[in-house]
Amino acid sequence: MFVDTHAHIHQHAPNESSEIIARAVAANVGAIFTAGTTIEDSQIAIEMAAKFDRVFAGVGVHPSDLEHSLSGDDILKLSELASSPHVVVMSEIGIDHQQKSPDKEWQAESFHAQINIAREHSLPIVFHIREHADDYDAHSARDAAISILKESNAGEIGGTAHYFQGRWSFARELLDLGFYISFAKTLARISDLEETAVKTPDNRILVETDAYPQTFKKNRANWTEPRDIALIAEKLAILRGSSVMAIEKLTTENALDMLGERSDLVRTILVQIQIRNRTQGISR
Ligand SMILES: [Zn+2]
Repeated sequence: MFVDTHAHIHQHAPNESSEIIARAVAANVGAIFTAGTTIEDSQIAIEMAAKFDRVFAGVGVHPSDLEHSLSGDDILKLSELASSPHVVVMSEIGIDHQQKSPDKEWQAESFHAQINIAREHSLPIVFHIREHADDYDAHSARDAAISILKESNAGEIGGTAHYFQGRWSFARELLDLGFYISFAKTLARISDLEETAVKTPDNRILVETDAYPQTFKKNRANWTEPRDIALIAEKLAILRGSSVMAIEKLTTENALDMLGERSDLVRTILVQIQIRNRTQGISR
């Protein structure tokens, strides 16, 4: 079974949740980490995780959603959310230097503060780093993020560079700090990513869909969902001269390893699903 290590499926209309999960199940996705992007949204992620056994929550404030640097009160609230038994990662946090993104100082302070919350609760961080515009060689967000990750010794708590889109040199820097690299559907269209997809060691690769309500796509059937995870695994298998089954096995093991203390929560569910499938005669 696959683990979708980063999605926002709690942001879909509540009446769609069961169907999205059923489609994920049919596509062999055993667990989905749904990440909050604001304090209120993180609460909704936890509520969804409480309702569905395959869904686990991330809590955090996305850099693009900051309206100010996180206040003491915000930090307290996030810390309270992070202590929920349904939470497995601190996410979505990070640095975003796109044109209209919030003040860089707020972002740096808030990223730092959220790494500290993660440390307090022994949660791995799943972070976002996005550069200005479409310049593939831009690196201001990268530089800002790396210096914060280093200053805060975030490698100790571990985690993942989610939706990775940079060059191999950048991936190597993150790998050296101890992080995983997570690939999304962009792997199929950004050829510059292929070198990273080939060179990232077996024990550091993850897969994710980053699924959220893509209202800009008119045809609902075309929205990315956790069920699409196999497409990423297929692309990785081709690039790495491996098989989809091998990619499935190693990315799921990696996802569990990345979770550290929280891995048992997810492992238990995956084992339960396997037993259920076996008794129902489903070969997976
Ligand atoms: Zn995301």
